[in-house]
Parts: sequence; C-alpha cells; structure tokens
Amino acid sequence: MADFGGGELDAFRAGARAWLEENYPTSLRRGAGPGSEEAAMTAMLNPNEDQKLWKARMAEKGWGAPTWPKQYGGGGLSQSEARVLQQEMERIGASNPMMGMGTSMFGPTLLEYGTEAQKQRHIPNIVSGEVRWCQGYSEPGAGSDLAGLQTKCEDAGDHWVVNGQKIWTSGAQYADWCFCLVRTDPAAKKHEGISCLLINMKDPGVETRPIRLINGDSPFCETFFTDVKARKDDIVGPLNGGWTIAKRLLQFERDAIATGLGGGTLTGPASATGVVDYARRYIGLDDQGRLADVDYRSRLVQHRMENQAFQMTLQRAADEAKANQGPSNAAAIMKYAGAKIAQDRAELIVEALGNQGLGWEGGGFEGQELAQVRGWLRTKANSIEGGSSEINLNVVSKRVLGLPDPK
Ligand SMILES: Cc1cc2nc3c(=O)[nH]c(=O)nc-3n(C[C@H](O)[C@H](O)[C@H](O)COP(=O)(O)OP(=O)(O)OC[C@H]3O[C@@H](n4cnc5c(N)ncnc54)[C@H](O)[C@@H]3O)c2cc1C
Repeated sequence: MADFGGGELDAFRAGARAWLEENYPTSLRRGAGPGSEEAAMTAMLNPNEDQKLWKARMAEKGWGAPTWPKQYGGGGLSQSEARVLQQEMERIGASNPMMGMGTSMFGPTLLEYGTEAQKQRHIPNIVSGEVRWCQGYSEPGAGSDLAGLQTKCEDAGDHWVVNGQKIWTSGAQYADWCFCLVRTDPAAKKHEGISCLLINMKDPGVETRPIRLINGDSPFCETFFTDVKARKDDIVGPLNGGWTIAKRLLQFERDAIATGLGGGTLTGPASATGVVDYARRYIGLDDQGRLADVDYRSRLVQHRMENQAFQMTLQRAADEAKANQGPSNAAAIMKYAGAKIAQDRAELIVEALGNQGLGWEGGGFEGQELAQVRGWLRTKANSIEGGSSEINLNVVSKRVLGLPDPK
C-alpha cells in the first residue's frame, strides 16, 4: 500500500486506537520489567481465554504482520501505518501475539525469495500464529564462521535426506518448522554449496535437546537431524544459492533484535525509566533530590543520552528502510549498539540493587529484583545472538564503511 501522511494517518490512528480499545482484553495489559522467555513461551503454548481471543482478533485483522500483503492474510498497511499501530499498541501495553521468528525473520525473507506456492503455503500460517518457526543456522563447528556449516542434505531422487546437528536453536523444542542452512554441494567453495531448506520439526528423525542459558531458562536447543526426509520443493531460492538468502535473513534478524532491545522487550532489561526507578529506590536521593551517588548519576545520565540517541537512530533507520526495501547491512550497527546499551542498562540496574542483586533464588528477594538479576544475565547473550558484536563490527567495517579486509 502507498505510504501517506498527515490527515489520513491521523484518521488511521483514531481508527486503530478505537479498535484496540474495543478488542484488546484489559486482563492482558503488561506490567513493567523484563519477562522470562520461558514464561512468554509458556503463555504462547498454553494461552488463557483472553490470550486466545486477542490472537484470533489480531489474526483476523492481519495485524500480527501488519505490512504483509493482504493476499497472504497480512494487514496490508504502509510502514507509517504500521508504526502508528505499534505506537498505539505500546500506549495500552498490548503486545503482538504473532511475534516470533516467523513474523520477524523467516516471513519477510520468504516474501522476497519464495515461490508463489511457498508463500501460499507458509505465510498465512505465520500471520495467523498457527505455525512457529525456528532458525537452524549455527552448528557446533559453525557460528561466526557460518559458511563452514556441515549439515548434509543429499538428493534421494524424489526427496532430500538431511543428516547433521544444529545448536543454539532458539525455540526448537516448540517449533513446527525450521528454516535451515544445509550443505547441498560438499565439493563447491564453502559459500557456494549451501542451500536454505525448510524442515518440518515433527518429521521422523528430528530430535531437540534443550540447553540451559546462564539465567536459568532453556530457550534454545541442540537439534539433531537423522535421515530426515524433506520435500524437493522445500528449498527456498536456488539450489546452492542459500548464502544470499542466509545473509538477507540475518539483516531481518539483526534489525528485529535491535528494535527489540530498543523497546526493552523480552531479551532486553527494563526501560531507561526503569533504571531510574531502581536507582532512586536503592541508591537514594541527596538533599537536593538528586541521586546520592555522583559517579553513578553521571554514568546513568550518559546511558540515558546514549539510549535516547539510539532510539532516534532506530527511528531514522526505520524511515530509511521504508524508502529502501527493508533493512540493510546498517542493521549490524543497530544490533551492535542495541546490545551494548541493553548490557549497560542491566549493569546499572544490578549495581543499583547492591546486595539485593547478589542472589539467585529465594531469600529476601522481591520478584522484580530477581527478574532484573536474571535479565542482567540474559543480556550477556545480547552480544552473541544474531551474530556476535565483533562479527557485526566486521560487517559494518566491510559492507557499510567499505574498509579494506585486513587479511
Ligand atoms: C541466546 C542465543 C540464541 C541463539 N539462537 C540461535 C538460533 O535460534 N539459531 C541459530 O542458528 N543460532 C542461534 N544462536 C547462535 C549464535 O548465532 C552464535 O552463538 C553466534 O553466531 C556466535 O557463534 P559461536 O557461538 O559459535 O561463537 P564463535 O563463532 O566460536 O565465536 C567465539 C568468539 O570469537 C569471536 N570471533 C569469531 N570470529 C571472529 C572474527 N572473524 N573476527 C572477530 N571476532 C571473531 C566472536 O565474536 C566470539 O567472541 C543463538 C545464540 C544465543 C546466545
């Protein structure tokens, strides 16, 4: 849909606000503080009646994937309208029940690279939230050096046969499908023998083993494929042309992580305002009403300035993406900066908590403090997931700044 502004956008806002007021169940309004990924996943797997209702209503509108074409069940909104919708949802604490790798990473990539039949088959199920996707990229021997992946995909005539192991597969234990990078030509140069294959996680030969993260959750898994059969038409893009698709998907991933970190969602700790609340409560105020610890105060101000600049840059990047067909390599800048800001914020919160930030469970903790400590531990992964900070800086250096490769 064409982007428009001014009065029409105001009219859209008024309509969206009215619809949300009427359709968002009040029992779902979100509290402050970081949520556990597992708790969010549990809510997704075992929704209560109001959660089911909200999901059904959003599915009907297509607003879980607001900018996707209506022909696949999407909302058909312009980027400006989608942003207004997001603002209106944030205003009342509403979250997108379809949020996940399907809407943020796989769907946008399939819309660009999939065949019409693949889009018809997979996009509507993502929009309705019926199908959950996971990402089968990393392997025990291939993380930053992703193109070194070894999971084998062999031609067995009328189908493919997959053997190998993935690791750190977020949500694999709950996923219905996996967008997976596999080696289809072991003789070719490493970037040229990779394909993007869609694997049904319910098929025989797929096994997931959850791994515990430092914060106590088990959001990801080791994933094993043993003689798994996949349909011939489940390759996305050209055979052995998966690297291009892999890179495009990573741009969507980095953009989604950065935006999530900016918004202080599941993977990020409390908002910048949240830090101030904790600092006031645990550090206390001087006789002029300022935070009593001068050094902490100046670091908090620095953090808030960086955060403000980050939010504004995210906004600018979103506007540029609108004009330039979605996220670009600049998503690596945002991902890097977002990870740092989220980690700094979590450090400030835990520092403010003092002794209350030293425990793990039970004894003297209030729920929110413990959640902050676990949130702080969760942020350790922010500079690893979606490509480590060093790798993102490499992307910025090569592909954004055009600097020569030091090798
Ligand atoms: C919470 C979380 C969720 C994840 N979810 C998924 C998922 O759903 N699917 C999936 O496929 N993967 C997932 N990952 C894996 C993630 O993409 C990898 O962990 C990441 O790409 C780093 O790879 P690695 O762990 O193998 O580390 P390595 O590649 O071994 O890197 C180790 C260290 O060396 C540095 N390094 C490596 N190469 C270079 C270089 N060329 N220049 C400079 N420094 C370098 C890295 O920055 C890092 O500090 C997840 C990871 C985490 C933490």
